[in-house]
Amino acid sequence: MTDRYYSFEFFPPKTAEGAEKLRNTRAQLAPLQPKYISVTFGAGGTTQRGTLDAVLEIQREGIEAAPHLSCVGSSRESIRDILKTYRDNGIRHIVALRGDMPSGMGDIGEFRYANELVEFIRAETGDWFNIEVAAYPEYHPQARSPRHDLDNFVRKVKAGANSAITQYFFNADAYFRFVDDVRAMGVEVPIVPGIMPITNHSQLMRFSEMCGAEVPRWVAKRLESFGDDKESIRAFVLDVVTALCERLLASGVPGLHFYTLNTAGATKAIWQRLKL
Ligand code: FAD
Repeated sequence: MTDRYYSFEFFPPKTAEGAEKLRNTRAQLAPLQPKYISVTFGAGGTTQRGTLDAVLEIQREGIEAAPHLSCVGSSRESIRDILKTYRDNGIRHIVALRGDMPSGMGDIGEFRYANELVEFIRAETGDWFNIEVAAYPEYHPQARSPRHDLDNFVRKVKAGANSAITQYFFNADAYFRFVDDVRAMGVEVPIVPGIMPITNHSQLMRFSEMCGAEVPRWVAKRLESFGDDKESIRAFVLDVVTALCERLLASGVPGLHFYTLNTAGATKAIWQRLKL
């Protein structure tokens, strides 16, 4: 498949040092010619400015930039303002999310779910934005039931999303089943697997617990057995994630989206092994 595309995800740096580190990461990843780079956004607008700054910097470097936009805790007016800022700056690609309410923040705001945000973006800006939404092959942690979660995903796509990026997963079969299920429900948009090349054991277990991504028992056991041996953990994780990507690519996925965690090393290593 020649029109397959690759994208990278960053989070907005909080300090000048973090911003410099991210520039360095970008300099290493830019030669891989991603289709776009996306930048996450804190629910409730906590990193709103950071997202905009990072996105504009990426755009100035000549790479397509896609800000994430989460709606929980927001008013229509504030989302309208953000959309206008992006439009005024020539940004045409957005990852539209509900987000998670930060603890201590009470007001849920004027949007309840991502499908309402997608609808709003389309109503306000027509076809200006290419809209991505999130997909959960192992189901969203708060989903009432798998079927309900699939229905909600379909609702988001029907509201006007152009494509979807998945939560990361290690079970390729969960992804294949998810895609088959939503295709049977009439969804035709590309569903790009999100790839997590995390090489820190405790971070991997913590993230996976939080976002409902299953770490297979054999992977968890092997990781545990390496103890503090960071080199072995890194080598093993790179093997596992590369094998997952190989399987996905062989099955004809539309692309891969790398959760880089603002570092270049692991993503580059997998990239080279895959000979992309
Ligand atoms: P939704 O699609 O709204 O779904 C949330 C839950 O509500 C699901 O359980 C769903 O089944 C249910 N639901 C959906 N619609 C309805 C409905 N109409 N009626 C009843 N129930 C419904 N978070 C951030 O804060 N910032 C980011 O930048 C960010 N980027 C992400 C990027 C990707 C690719 C992914 C996969 C996740 C990202 N997240 C981010 C995390 C995301 O915000 C959380 O997973 C959040 O809990 C759900 O967001 P969503 O857009 O998938 O929500």
